[in-house]
Amino acid sequence: MIGAVVLIAFAVWIRWSVQKKKKSYGIPEGLILYSDLNVPATPLFSRRFRLTGKPDYIVRKENQCIPVEVKSGKGPHPHQSQVLQLAAYCQILEDTSGVFIPEGILVYNNVPYTIRFDPKLRFELESVMKTMRASLRSGVVKRNHHEPARCRNCSMKQYCTDIIEDAS
Ligand code: SF4
Repeated sequence: MIGAVVLIAFAVWIRWSVQKKKKSYGIPEGLILYSDLNVPATPLFSRRFRLTGKPDYIVRKENQCIPVEVKSGKGPHPHQSQVLQLAAYCQILEDTSGVFIPEGILVYNNVPYTIRFDPKLRFELESVMKTMRASLRSGVVKRNHHEPARCRNCSMKQYCTDIIEDAS
């Protein structure tokens, strides 16, 4: 009897802590199907687009699956590069699940921004992917900015041949 009460209390506590965490990250209500934040998740892979990625969360809400990416940073939101990253997650999720993905969510400082995965964004994603692949094939990938801070915080800086020198 005491064991059952302890188990129920534990289950209630887990449910409460998950709800609290969702609220603190600004994650929308719904069932979390996938999470890469607490424990590293398996990357998702789209064969059709040869794209791979791990959204921070996938939330199921009203029969829709929604990728959610939690971001930090200042300045105006949402950033275009992060919109494209989210678009890539929408595309990957659509291809791996076989289900239409109408939108994704970017969260900045606990504030969610819904990004429609509409024809315009789909076209833009495809166009950027074509440009990136053409650059990779040519063997010449030029830096497209003059911001030392971006290089300083870049996860690719150890491999980059075009890094801004005083930023390392
Ligand atoms: S280190 Fe290279 S890849 Fe990273 S932001 Fe700078 S130029 Fe771009």
